[in-house]
Amino acid sequence: MSDTIEKIKCLIIGSGPAGYTAAIYAARADMKPIIYTGMQMGGQLTTTTEVDNFPGYPNGTDGTAMMEDLKNQAERFGTQVRFGMITKVELNKEVGGIHKVIVDQTKHIEAQTIIISTGATAKYLGIESEQRLIGGGVSACATCDGFFYKGQEVVVVGAGDTAAEEATYLANICSKVTILVRRDVMRASKAMQHRVNKTKNIEVLYNTEIDEVLGKNVVEGVRIINNQTKETSIINVTGVFIAIGHTPNTDLFKGVLEMDDTGYLITKGKTTKTNLPGVFACGDVQDKDYRQAVTAAGTGCMAALDAERYLGSLE
Ligand code: NDP
Repeated sequence: MSDTIEKIKCLIIGSGPAGYTAAIYAARADMKPIIYTGMQMGGQLTTTTEVDNFPGYPNGTDGTAMMEDLKNQAERFGTQVRFGMITKVELNKEVGGIHKVIVDQTKHIEAQTIIISTGATAKYLGIESEQRLIGGGVSACATCDGFFYKGQEVVVVGAGDTAAEEATYLANICSKVTILVRRDVMRASKAMQHRVNKTKNIEVLYNTEIDEVLGKNVVEGVRIINNQTKETSIINVTGVFIAIGHTPNTDLFKGVLEMDDTGYLITKGKTTKTNLPGVFACGDVQDKDYRQAVTAAGTGCMAALDAERYLGSLE
């Protein structure tokens, strides 16, 4: 354990669009932010290929390249971007109190403000063929990648609101969408199920799971299995959208910060304030409804402004 404690104004945890945007604003406000990237530098967007829906890129861009641009922009104004994981936090409950964190179990930092942008992680099935084809036709985000399957057949795995929403979104773009539901019912709200049922090019297969995603470098189909009859069959699709939920990356803050019953951080009203003074949350870690790069970036900006105002109120 290192003995020296680094004292800073603003620590940002997580390097997706929310974290980097917070860093751009915080750095320009002279808060000298330090951002710890986490293990997946650049966040979820680095697992997607093209990004066509982030304003300002008329010809689209590559997810990894876009995150590199955001990083460079944050660094241009003096943000220190460091690779590392925050492994422990000791958050102060008092207004003006100092928050303590440990990085990679060795380095101590004391920060006046903390901006949490640790994001959420899409859940996957975990089978080998699915993992191998992520980015090659397997995706966890229809809004990000659906466009690339225009006029083609795809499957959506899942039975909640996300699966229903993604399927109806894809039905507008794709020739056919098959939803694979592992039980004999969907968990999605009645309204969402109604939308699914009245969409002509969506078919729902119940008691059905993916046995294997077919294809070497790109998806060529899926072998499905009826978990009641054990019958298998093949559907020729080019896209596989996994919509079985997300896990917010909030383990570090359990029992300390207020969360909803699924672990997302709760922010106050229209702000990014958590229940502790000087601690702010932005991006997917506090948003399970929109989950877009542009909305994450918007809340990143808000978090930096909230942090700046908080520091100003202490003077
Ligand atoms: P949910 O946790 O609600 O649903 C996940 C679904 O995935 C479940 O139906 C589950 O099946 C299925 N599933 C889980 N693991 C597997 C697996 N290994 N194989 C096959 N299927 C699997 O997640 P959502 O992302 O759908 O929703 C999260 C929250 O966000 C919910 O509260 C939802 O209401 C909300 N939301 C709201 C929206 C809106 O209001 N517009 C839009 C999107 C989300 P099973 O049912 O068998 O457990």
